[in-house]
Amino acid sequence: MQDKIYSPGVMKYVEESKKLIAEREAQMAQAKKWKFDTIAVHGLYSVEEALTRNQGAIIEPLYLASAQAYRDSDELEAALAYLVPTWCYTRIANPTTYYLEWVLALLESYKTGSDASCLVTASGMSAIAQAVDPFLVKQKDGPERINFVTSNRLYGGTYQHFNIRKKQERGIEVRWVHNPEDIDEWKAVIDEDTRFLYMEAPSNPQQSFADLEALADLAHSWGIPFIIDATCATPALTRPIAWGADIVVHSLTKSITAGGLAVGGALISRKPIVTKVKNDHPLFKESFAEYVKFFPYRDNGPASAPANAMFALNDVRTLRSRMDLVSRNCMAVAEYLEGQPKVYQVDYLGCPKDPLHPLAKRYMTLVDSNDGRGREVNRYGHLMSFRVDGPPENARKVFDGFKMIFRATDLGRIKSVATIPAISTHQQQGEEARRAADVPPQLIRLCVGAEDPSDVIADLDQALKRV
Ligand SMILES: *Cc1c(COP(=O)(O)O)cnc(C)c1O
Repeated sequence: MQDKIYSPGVMKYVEESKKLIAEREAQMAQAKKWKFDTIAVHGLYSVEEALTRNQGAIIEPLYLASAQAYRDSDELEAALAYLVPTWCYTRIANPTTYYLEWVLALLESYKTGSDASCLVTASGMSAIAQAVDPFLVKQKDGPERINFVTSNRLYGGTYQHFNIRKKQERGIEVRWVHNPEDIDEWKAVIDEDTRFLYMEAPSNPQQSFADLEALADLAHSWGIPFIIDATCATPALTRPIAWGADIVVHSLTKSITAGGLAVGGALISRKPIVTKVKNDHPLFKESFAEYVKFFPYRDNGPASAPANAMFALNDVRTLRSRMDLVSRNCMAVAEYLEGQPKVYQVDYLGCPKDPLHPLAKRYMTLVDSNDGRGREVNRYGHLMSFRVDGPPENARKVFDGFKMIFRATDLGRIKSVATIPAISTHQQQGEEARRAADVPPQLIRLCVGAEDPSDVIADLDQALKRV
């Protein structure tokens, strides 16, 4: 990064910062030896760091301050040139957010054989925008029209972002894949001007899935990155980097911050990523999340509020055991619904009947678990959906009958929540797109929480009696 000559005063701070960098590297090396749960609980916040810098506080401090003060002009110059570890200004970086970023980078790269870096953003949507935009810049001597290829089974907001913000407003060609599990459909639409492949797995609400390894290989054979939204899986159940994915995005708002007190997003990238987009900065390829953090994100401004990062950090500590519990609860609820005559279809990747079950079985396992034969046990998360027989009014009647389950456009909660996507999350995209994405008005999306599953089943049972 350093092509400019800096004064001896500035270089003194660069020299001094080497100690801090070494300390952080040592803590990183230590964390990499830990199991998933230990990383989730401690991350990079060590006893040493607590005692030397944070009055011994055993929990990471919440820094709400907007900016950092410097000792003199030399330190200010070193910091703003990114020559020393610093946080400058909370739109660029913040110490609390820093702890969350590194714990997520470590969890997402856990047992993948790769290193990763992470950028935390204000929301899942801003993480998605920050992840795709750097690949959609016009290149000198590049083609007039560029495209990207994406599954059409997406969160409603992502669909709108691609269809309206990218296609209609910016003239970028969006090539939709209707059956993401069919690798030939992807192959048929990629060309020289494709900038990346994009997938959501499992998708919200349809729970589509794809052969992640084959998609990563396909992307790399064209020299482009494979980007995946793994919000519904979380790193406790799937770590796409292990299968070759370049960039993973999450809505931290969902299962990662299951307590429901904060909105947030994360972009995690493998070091390095595959891309043919030319960018002068070495971090672009070597550590994409850090590149985005120090440059486009700084200039675009979707910074996470430190308090929101704190809520995410607090919830992520129990991610693995929580995903185990809610996955088991969801399985019990899905089995109950499969036996209900008023329900004509249950979609849950954990059900052996589900056509995508074999694919999900390969990729969705509870990290650090053991089935007794040395393999990890399968867990499929807590998102499911079911379709109520008869006209759409029947689904609304059942939905309106819930007494404990919350009616909300939300998911990933410690509490069970349900919505009708056709009239909520997927309302804006119109009937035709909903039909193509298989989101009929009879479909109720249910995300099962950590309640005793018999109480969730009892609530569903009394509501189904209304039709
Ligand atoms: C909710 C959601 C998003 C968007 O996240 P926000 O935090 O609401 O901006 C993106 N992807 C998936 C799969 C989601 O469920």
